[in-house]
Amino acid sequence: MVSEIRGTGSKNSFVGSKWLTLNMDDDIYLKPVRLQTSQDHLEYSLAAERRRIRLYHEDAYNNLMEDEYTLNDTEWENDNTKISTDCTHVESIELVLPPHANHQGNTFGGQIMAWMESVANISASRLCHTHATLKSVDMFKFRGPSTVGDRLVFRAIVNNTFQKSVEVGVRVEAYNCEEWTEGKARHINSAFLIYQAMNTKEECIMFPRVKASTKDAVRRFCGAIARRKIRLARKYILSSKQEKPISHPWDKGNQTYLIYNNVATLTVLAANHGWEPTSTMENIRIFTSEENDVLSIKVEMQVRVQSKQAYLLLSDLGLRPNWDLHYLSCKVIETAGEDDKIFYFTCPPVKQSKSRDFVALMSRRYPCKNGDPYVIAMRSVTLASYPPSAEKLRSEVQCAGFLIYSRGKDACQVSYLNQLTSGIMPYVEENLTGWSKSIVETAASCITFLETAQVYTTLL
Ligand code: ADP
Repeated sequence: MVSEIRGTGSKNSFVGSKWLTLNMDDDIYLKPVRLQTSQDHLEYSLAAERRRIRLYHEDAYNNLMEDEYTLNDTEWENDNTKISTDCTHVESIELVLPPHANHQGNTFGGQIMAWMESVANISASRLCHTHATLKSVDMFKFRGPSTVGDRLVFRAIVNNTFQKSVEVGVRVEAYNCEEWTEGKARHINSAFLIYQAMNTKEECIMFPRVKASTKDAVRRFCGAIARRKIRLARKYILSSKQEKPISHPWDKGNQTYLIYNNVATLTVLAANHGWEPTSTMENIRIFTSEENDVLSIKVEMQVRVQSKQAYLLLSDLGLRPNWDLHYLSCKVIETAGEDDKIFYFTCPPVKQSKSRDFVALMSRRYPCKNGDPYVIAMRSVTLASYPPSAEKLRSEVQCAGFLIYSRGKDACQVSYLNQLTSGIMPYVEENLTGWSKSIVETAASCITFLETAQVYTTLL
């Protein structure tokens, strides 16, 4: 890897074990690092990925912002308990004194961060009426220096809340004595701080939803959603956590357990309270949820077709390659009755890797009573007759499937859920950062498929 140092003028820098005087008019190229162990290779590729994310952060943010402006969340609009962000506005002024600065008179970055955190903390506490705890900091950038004698003005406000967390934005402007009287400000810093708050039982409290009253506040409200998406993607794309094997062997002894577990896990996942909307359109809404560092995704689709027809079409997995661009092929390889079958399916390659294949149990169930959904659950299993091959990357599904709720005679809501694994993540990650819309496109294709397919009409 070659790293560059760019800039102008000359400067002393500590490189390796020596102080060097660098002529900053020339680019300084560092020698590539030598990788020896597999851990070195892992760290190297993670560092490269972090750099890529840093470099593309602004583009990703702008890209996502284009979508967020079309945010159309009726549930949020109809919530009458929303609190205006105006009541979280906090402003404070600090005078930079010599103890706040280094020997060159520049204010310590850490001091500015500490002041920023203080105002942001007060702002977050105004919303949760308790002490808020800093969880992470996003997009912290030092835009320019400030020096002894400057007055620093810190302005903070809540931009948005995400169930168990809140984003507070802080903007810092510096004035020197002359600028202060003339009202000229230098924008030296902005950052976005994420807080949580605990109750007496040490559980995270839920933050109220907020409403934005000005055009700027609406832009920041949407900006906070975009930043959250990028954070989520970064966290899960970069996590090198080793997953425990998910698939259990499909044999006589544990079939009943696997079938029960398949349906129950999907039902429990759907009942999770932590679903956070990340994209909402008229008939397609996408949610994410994080539980114990596992990311799940939910896609809700409003479809003009009877729920039973949707159930029959979606549970015929052989039809899935017709509407799902993530499926190349799909076939039944074993059955355990009409409603429990094992499928082998293949998915296209992502980013020069091999195509992937899965062996998964699908269990489908009719509603137990009125109001319950139809359930189509999937999870990976292992079958001795379908071992992994050298041509394909064998991947696993932890918990995925559809819940179909009737919405009157000729309409239903189809919810697709997937608890993401390392095998599924490559198909989703670009959606999280806004580079791909394959999830929305697949959902739209699913709706069209369900609304136009005639195959099962005669069976109803
Ligand atoms: P942006 O408005 O694009 O988010 P800024 O750098 O102007 O970027 O501001 C960063 C954050 O600081 C804003 O998101 C907001 O939370 C907070 N902020 C900016 N201006 C004010 C203000 N006048 N009062 C309170 N908070 C502010």
